[in-house]
Amino acid sequence: MNILLVGSGGREHALAWKIAQSPLVTRLVAAPGNPGIEAVCELRPVKADDAEGLAALAREIKADLVVVGPEVALAAGVADRLAAAGIPCFGPTAKAAQLETSKAFSKAFLERHSIPTAGYGVYETVQEAKAALDAFQPPYVIKADGLAAGKGVAISPDRADAEAEVERMLGGRFGAAGARVVIEEFMDGEEGSLFALCDGKQAVLFGGAQDHKRAFDGDTGPNTGGMGAYSPAPVFTADLVQQADERIVQPTIRKMAEEGAPYRGVLYAGLMATTDGPKVVEFNARFGDPECQVLMMRMAGDIVPYLLACARGDVSGLPAPAFKPQTVICVVMAAKGYPDSPLEGSIIRGADQDFGPHVQVFHAGTKRRDDGQLCAAGGRVLNVCAEGDDIAQARERAYDAIKKIDWPGGFNRSDIGWRALERG
Ligand code: AMP
Repeated sequence: MNILLVGSGGREHALAWKIAQSPLVTRLVAAPGNPGIEAVCELRPVKADDAEGLAALAREIKADLVVVGPEVALAAGVADRLAAAGIPCFGPTAKAAQLETSKAFSKAFLERHSIPTAGYGVYETVQEAKAALDAFQPPYVIKADGLAAGKGVAISPDRADAEAEVERMLGGRFGAAGARVVIEEFMDGEEGSLFALCDGKQAVLFGGAQDHKRAFDGDTGPNTGGMGAYSPAPVFTADLVQQADERIVQPTIRKMAEEGAPYRGVLYAGLMATTDGPKVVEFNARFGDPECQVLMMRMAGDIVPYLLACARGDVSGLPAPAFKPQTVICVVMAAKGYPDSPLEGSIIRGADQDFGPHVQVFHAGTKRRDDGQLCAAGGRVLNVCAEGDDIAQARERAYDAIKKIDWPGGFNRSDIGWRALERG
């Protein structure tokens, strides 16, 4: 099989690493990729949101399957363009991806089908939104409607702060993504991410993970795209997973099909384990980053048959995906200044050494200079992933590997996995 992988982050490096292990693969090409992915497969300089260019590349390499990593590609209609060209694509159409790309769409969908989530309203003017706060209790949850790289959510402790947030969001802080705001009830509980592989009609569960969104230790500092993750996540008891599958995942896939937007690809359900059972915090239409990295390391066996079956529209013949019993942890190393103004260009030494059988270092925002040295070229730069018999061992291995990477321009959290460790 020839496979085209779209994207250039740590998530895509992990996908490339996993896909490349499949005996079914003859040729794997990534676009646009990064220096880590280049060590695994061939790169082509087509941007992830260039639907026309990607379709042309897929035709050129006679791709049997295209795997889409990032949401920008989905929002740009890459899956739609490939469907028109008759090329199987793992990733939903732009219409189906609205489960992620429009919070107003996904909230209305959930409400329409009585799928458990927080009560909410959608507002287009500052005046409307401020008045609507009367109907909510603090803390106030205020979200930009569109894609904001995981940073478009504010939890305001009091009314004055909530009003200031509404003004900032509707005042253009997130550009077009903030043309509308969603205000919703605060849900109390522990959060986790549950993944499902979907073929347009049904879904098979693909494990759970927990991530750390805040920039600094103790879950403090600004929200980020994610500073670390681990899987399995102890919050997902068998009972919670079953409830989430029955009440959330399967109905979502069924109803999307009934509404004429069959969902193919990975559904990432951000869930809150509340006293009333699991509720949807948000949906994403792709693997989480860095959750994907830990899932790829934990998955036992070949992922390609699952990706292909979803893209072709029938996963029913496959057994449930199997995972190793070990825990995998991912610690994100980010450029100093991230998330506000990450320092670009600092030299990284030692990222590509052999860290032994239990550790993988995936590249996210890296660049190879003309002199061959690796440097930072983004906010989140490296993903140090390690497996262990339990969270403590996985964590120790990841932090030992970090000590071997010489990167004065970077930083990482030192407490990834604390919640699971405390439970343990
Ligand atoms: P989202 O981008 O919608 O996942 O929101 C980002 C983060 O804000 C989530 O991971 C939660 O920690 C928090 N959050 C979002 N919505 C709510 C809610 N209704 N209640 C409590 N926390 C929330």
